[in-house]
Amino acid sequence: MARDIVIPADAGAVVIVDLDAIAENYRLIQSTCPGAEVGAAVKADAYGLGVGPVTAALSDAGCTTFFVATPAEGTHLRKTNATAEIVVLNGPEPGNIATLLDSRLTPTLNSLPQIETWAAASANAPMEAWLHIDTGMNRLGLGPGELEALIAKPARLDGIRISTILSHLACADTPDHPMNAAQRDSFTATCELLTAITGPVRTSLANSPGVFLGSEYHFNMVRPGASLYGIRPSAERPNPMKQVVEIYTKILQVRDVDTPMTVGYGAAHQVTGTRRIATLAAGYADGYPRAAGNTAGHTEGKSMCAFIDGQPAPLAGRISMDLITIDVTDLPAALCRPGQTVELLGPNVTPDDLADAAGTIAYEVLSRLGPRLQVEYRGGTN
Ligand SMILES: *Cc1c(COP(=O)(O)O)cnc(C)c1O
Repeated sequence: MARDIVIPADAGAVVIVDLDAIAENYRLIQSTCPGAEVGAAVKADAYGLGVGPVTAALSDAGCTTFFVATPAEGTHLRKTNATAEIVVLNGPEPGNIATLLDSRLTPTLNSLPQIETWAAASANAPMEAWLHIDTGMNRLGLGPGELEALIAKPARLDGIRISTILSHLACADTPDHPMNAAQRDSFTATCELLTAITGPVRTSLANSPGVFLGSEYHFNMVRPGASLYGIRPSAERPNPMKQVVEIYTKILQVRDVDTPMTVGYGAAHQVTGTRRIATLAAGYADGYPRAAGNTAGHTEGKSMCAFIDGQPAPLAGRISMDLITIDVTDLPAALCRPGQTVELLGPNVTPDDLADAAGTIAYEVLSRLGPRLQVEYRGGTN
């Protein structure tokens, strides 16, 4: 792919988002969970990839439920999608009831006060909601004490129609972690208790890595985000997902350096011998993590690389806001000229690879892609 990509003169770097790959990943998850519906987490602008085009592609693939974090994200999504169910994970507050109703958003009720807030807003029709039970995250959702109080006084739910009960896995990316089965069993038991109050409801436990833990984790609906965007479900297993995101930049300048020169801020990269350094037109402001920079020289096996025509060039020194320096000494000179396209993410570097080099996770790499990147969508119906 890299060969065909030319970075426009006005831009420093281009991010390519493959909408067909997202649809393919959606279908792979569908076939992994044949008994369950597949909703899609599209919070944080669809993990940085653009909520409009991403949800359009997912809708075309058959997705009818989308998860966002905030009412504002829900309102934004509602403008381009009139029919989908949009679930707001952060839940209702007295000040956002009007937004939730106006945009026809379904809140997740995460606590007794949120149940009270939503019930109080009920006028004539019952207020639809999802109910979030905490089974071990200790983040959002009703904990054991709140659950007991709810079961002791079911009238708290008067005026509310619970359509779905959900919980969230803490360790699903570690398939052998004992917490997975413990959360699953606790969720099953809690759903049995609750449906005595709510009547029949749908149940939902699995995020992306949960999808790949087996059918006993699928319940009625799964809620993948990361896997749709190509991120691996687990570092311990091969990644079954198709890569969605590629980033290309270009060479701005090439120079020869020699001992005892240094490259970049902090003089952190000491050259050993005659080396050729290329400066690239992207940096941490574009979302390339500064922590991925190689500041201790070319430590064998540890250097993060950029790729030119499939050939690796190790990063040299600190990553700047707008620039990255790479060592191209071992590459043919014809590939190392200003204007040359350089792969930062693509066939040779996955978002997971880059995240590993930076000591973070690909979720953070994608959701922090910079607004300066020129976005190009591939595939889809547009
Ligand atoms: C973000 C989120 C998901 C999606 O998680 P992934 O690991 O990206 O698949 C699912 N459920 C909840 C409650 C979430 O907050």
